[in-house]
Amino acid sequence: MLTDEVSPDVSQSEPQATAYTDGLTGLGNRNRLRDKMRRLIAERAADPAPFALCIANLDGFKPINDLFGMDAGDEILCQVAHRLKACIPDGAVVTRHGGDAFAFLFPLVFERTGAEKMGQMIRDVLSAPYDLGDRNVRLSASFGFAIHPFAGEDFDDLLKSADTALYRSKRRGRGQITVYSHQIAQEMKRATQLEQALRNAIIKDQVDVHFQPIVALKTGMPVGFEALARWNDPDLGFVSPAIFVPLAEERGFIDALSEALLRKAAEAALSWPRELFLSFNLSSAQLMDPSTVGTIMSIVNRSGLDPERLELEITETAIMTSAETAQRILLDLRQFGVRISLDDFGTGQSSLGRLRDFSFDKVKIDRAFVARITSDRPSELIIKAIIAMCDGLGLQVVAEGIEHLQEAEMLKHFGCALGQGYYYGKPMDAATTLAWLNSIQYEQSA
Ligand code: C2E
Ligand code: MG
Ligand code: MG
Repeated sequence: MLTDEVSPDVSQSEPQATAYTDGLTGLGNRNRLRDKMRRLIAERAADPAPFALCIANLDGFKPINDLFGMDAGDEILCQVAHRLKACIPDGAVVTRHGGDAFAFLFPLVFERTGAEKMGQMIRDVLSAPYDLGDRNVRLSASFGFAIHPFAGEDFDDLLKSADTALYRSKRRGRGQITVYSHQIAQEMKRATQLEQALRNAIIKDQVDVHFQPIVALKTGMPVGFEALARWNDPDLGFVSPAIFVPLAEERGFIDALSEALLRKAAEAALSWPRELFLSFNLSSAQLMDPSTVGTIMSIVNRSGLDPERLELEITETAIMTSAETAQRILLDLRQFGVRISLDDFGTGQSSLGRLRDFSFDKVKIDRAFVARITSDRPSELIIKAIIAMCDGLGLQVVAEGIEHLQEAEMLKHFGCALGQGYYYGKPMDAATTLAWLNSIQYEQSA
C-alpha cells in the first residue's frame, strides 16, 4: 500500500531521507513521487490498471509572498501541505513539487470524471481561508491531471503531460482543472508541427510584417502604422499571429521572431514620411526579459530609424506577470524617446492604478467596445469614460477596430483623436503601404 510516510528503504539514513523529503513542509519531494510511481507500476505489472498523476499550483501565491513576506508564504505552504495530507484518499500520495506546486499520485483514479471530482474536492479544501495570525487570506489552485498509461508510460512523460494540462488550466484563469486528453495530445502534436514550420519560416525569413494605418479621426489622414506579423506557410496556409505569436512565446523563441519582425518593420518605416510613427507589438515574454531594451535599441539604431518614431504596444497581462521588470524596461525605453502604448485596453485585468503607476503615452481602446459603440449603451459610456480619463491623465487615445463610418463619427464626437480599423485601412504589405501613402498624398495635393 502506498502511504506518504517515509518508506522503509529511504528512512534508513538521514541524508537519504532528506533526498526524499521537502524541508519546509515535511512532505515528500519529486524523488519520492518518482519512487512511488515506479513502485506502483511494478506492483501492478501483472495486472496493469490506470492511475492518475496530478500537479496543483496555487493561484496568486506570489503576490502574497511579495505583500506579506516570505515567512507568511512559508506558513501558507505548510498549511496547504497539512490540508492536502489530511484530505487525500488512503493510498494516495502528495508531495511538494517545488515553489507553490504540489504533486499527487492517485492509484484509484483512472479516468477523467474521477480526476475532475478529485480536483474539485482538493480545490474546495484549499479555498478555505488561511490563518496568518493577524489576517486571513484566501487562495485558489489550478490542476493538471495525467492518466497512466495513456498520457505517458514513464514518470517523465506522465509528468510532462500533467504539466501541459496544468499550463492549460492556468491559461484559462484561476481554479481550473484540466485532464490531459486525446484532444490535448492532438493539439500538442499540431503545435509541434507548427513550431517546426515557424522555426523554419523564421530561418528562411518567410514571416512578414504588414502595416495598418492609425489615423487622426478629424482628417482621416494617417499619423502612423501598426506593424502586424503575417505568416503564410506553403503547407499550413495562413496562420494567425494570435496563434503563432503565443506559440513562439510558449516554446521560447519569441525573441528571434520579434527581432526579425522589428528589423523588417523599421526598414519599411524608413521610406514613409518622417512624421509617421511605427507601432510595434511587444510580447509578454519580452517584458519579463531585461535584455529586451538592448535588443530593441540595437535593431532600431542599426536600421537608422529615429527612436522617437517608434511606439511599442504592450498589454496589461504582460505587465502584470512581472511588474517590476516590466516597469524598468519601459522606463529605459522611454529614456531613448520610444513611446509606450497600452494595447487592448478594457479587456484584460484593467487596473486604473496601472495607468497611474506606469508611464504610458497612449491607450488603445479594445475593438470589443468600439464594435458595440452604436448598439450598446454601456459600451458607449465606457468609451466616453476612458476618453475623459485619458484626457485628464494626458494620455492619447486610439480606438481600435473601427469598421463603419457611424462608429468613427461617434468616436470623433466623444473627443477621441485617433482611430484604427478596416474602415480606414486593412493591414497591407510594405509595398502596398507605400503605394497607399503615395495615393493619399496625391489626393491631398490634388
Ligand atoms: P492587436 O495588437 O490588438 O492588433 C489588432 C488586431 O486587430 C490585428 O489582428 C488587426 O488585423 C485586427 N483589426 C484591425 N482593425 C480591425 C477591424 O476593423 N476589424 C477587425 N475585426 N479586426 C481588426 P491580427 O493582425 O490578427 O493580430 C492579432 C494579434 O496578434 C494582435 O492584436 C497582437 O496582439 C498580436 N500580434 C500581431 N503581430 C504581432 C507582432 O509582430 N508581435 C507580437 N508580439 N504580437 C503581434
Ligand atoms: Mg497591437
Ligand atoms: Mg489591440
